[in-house]
Amino acid sequence: MPVAETILADLARIVGAQQVLSAPEDLIPYSFDGTAALRQTPGCVVLAKTAGQITEILKLANETRTAVVARGSGTGLSGGSLPSPDCIVLCTVMMDRILELDRANLTLLVEPGVTTLQVAEAASAAGLFYPPDPGSMKISTIGGNVAENSGGLRGLKYGVTRNYVMGMEVVLPTGEFLWTGNKCVKDVAGYSLKDLFVGSEGTLGIITKVLLRLIPKPQAKKTMLATFAQMDRAAEAVSAIIAAQIIPCTLEFLDRMTIHCVEDYARIGLPLDCEALLLMETDGHPVVVAEEAARMERICRDQGCLEVRVAKDEAEAAKLANARRTAFSALARVAPTTILEDATVPRSELAKMIRSVETVARKYKLRIGTFGHMGDGNLHPTFLTDERNQDEMHRVEEAFKEIFDEAIRLGGTITGEHGIGLAKKAFLPKFAGDAQMRVMRELRRALDPRGILNPGKMLGKGSSSTTHRCDRTRIKRNTPLSGNMYWAPITTNSSGSAFSISSGSNTPPVPGTGPASVRDTESSTLAAVPVTRLAIFPPGWPRGVRSLPSTRRNASSATSISKCVCAV
Ligand SMILES: Cc1cc2nc3c(=O)[nH]c(=O)nc-3n(C[C@H](O)[C@H](O)[C@H](O)COP(=O)(O)OP(=O)(O)OC[C@H]3O[C@@H](n4cnc5c(N)ncnc54)[C@H](O)[C@@H]3O)c2cc1C
Repeated sequence: MPVAETILADLARIVGAQQVLSAPEDLIPYSFDGTAALRQTPGCVVLAKTAGQITEILKLANETRTAVVARGSGTGLSGGSLPSPDCIVLCTVMMDRILELDRANLTLLVEPGVTTLQVAEAASAAGLFYPPDPGSMKISTIGGNVAENSGGLRGLKYGVTRNYVMGMEVVLPTGEFLWTGNKCVKDVAGYSLKDLFVGSEGTLGIITKVLLRLIPKPQAKKTMLATFAQMDRAAEAVSAIIAAQIIPCTLEFLDRMTIHCVEDYARIGLPLDCEALLLMETDGHPVVVAEEAARMERICRDQGCLEVRVAKDEAEAAKLANARRTAFSALARVAPTTILEDATVPRSELAKMIRSVETVARKYKLRIGTFGHMGDGNLHPTFLTDERNQDEMHRVEEAFKEIFDEAIRLGGTITGEHGIGLAKKAFLPKFAGDAQMRVMRELRRALDPRGILNPGKMLGKGSSSTTHRCDRTRIKRNTPLSGNMYWAPITTNSSGSAFSISSGSNTPPVPGTGPASVRDTESSTLAAVPVTRLAIFPPGWPRGVRSLPSTRRNASSATSISKCVCAV
């Protein structure tokens, strides 16, 4: 059921009619996020431009008890920004101003729609450093990062998003403004509410400003790559590095399948004759960097590594880091449905966890590529599957359960950085226990008594994970496309810095006919495109090669658009 006409009219009055989307083809890009096999068409989408508008929207939603789902770039991997039925998707990407760089206090004040990369670049331009660097940083928003408490490749040494949030402005579900935190390095006045909102996944309030901590840039950096004939040995090397009290800034891992997929995708020149690869980066004072690099190399050799390659210069270092950054995109190309998990264990238990993932893959006859932030104990077993194959999806479900059970048994957690959202909410009660669940539910009720924000997510009851099936967008399988719709695969270049529509030529197929493989394209399209708001072109766009309007600015730097549905 669509959002009531009266509500649509009120929304248009608040933000302007241009900023409210309700046509079916406009809603498709907002009907899924980066999580495989989850989709739900929203009632409408509102592209807010100011915090004042958000206040008005939430007051209206609260009065009419309309669900509101906050959304940044839609790259989330736990279904956090997946719409609930008939909800208002409140998208904050157009609130993308950098408001203040305070050199005296080393802080940066930004709106929630600023991308992580823009934050990093603004810091760097001032000679400073913003360390959190999720693999999606070219497109993910800082609002999404804060709401998910995102990690990144440098989390081992520098921590995660939470460690850089000094304060924020939030609009509560009632429409009331709340500012929490400040520029003080120390502040113990009352509960730390900012910490409550970090990682709240859009369930407690809408973040409208974020005050970030910046730090001095490290003076030097060394990037190295070590290869191993056995996965176990790589895991042991990581444990040995940590046990030797070396905290490199990056300690990332790729298994054989991921290495081959990355090389096939990005042509980096990775060694292919190994079972596992470690990407190691140390930064800081040049003397310390040189010493740490030498010690890590020694440890890897002691663990029987095949080869250690040290990047000669910045360009080679960036190339090696790119191998890790493209891992998800590279794996996403080889199967119609890519389900990425982030079970996390204490670092001493890494080798056991990796062995367990291998055993599970064999037991359920599944293809799993594993990579991840090994230094953090944060693995990303990635299932390469096909959601149309129900038997296989069932096996995927069972495999998940075993992987999560093993992570918990080893003293780990069911998510290290991607959040609970919809995908993992069934696992949370077992992990968190009754008392934590009760406190979290009471907190949520206190802030959102009518339960309008992101209902059904994180603490909500009901189905979870990949078995959750929502409506399959307005376009059904096997339906000849009609009117102004057509399907077309989209390809990106290896660095993700450019993309093109590859329908054989630059001229799209005649509307209504579509390529012969419409049916095949559908599931892989919807599963593989994390940058959902970019995945559709609005009616009225000229055909042929497209350039992007500013509201879809991030498309040109999308990391992993692989296929896409288009409307002309
Ligand atoms: C290729 C790829 C690589 C990735 N690599 C990493 C990684 O290394 N580390 C990592 O942690 N994650 C990673 N992710 C996951 C994802 O990018 C992060 O969770 C990111 O923070 C989501 O940002 P977003 O802007 O896309 O948010 P969305 O997906 O749009 O939203 C995420 C959550 O935040 C909420 N939200 C969004 N904006 C607001 C707001 N203004 N106020 C309140 N709530 C809000 C939403 O309701 C939702 O619950 C990766 C994803 C992809 C596709």
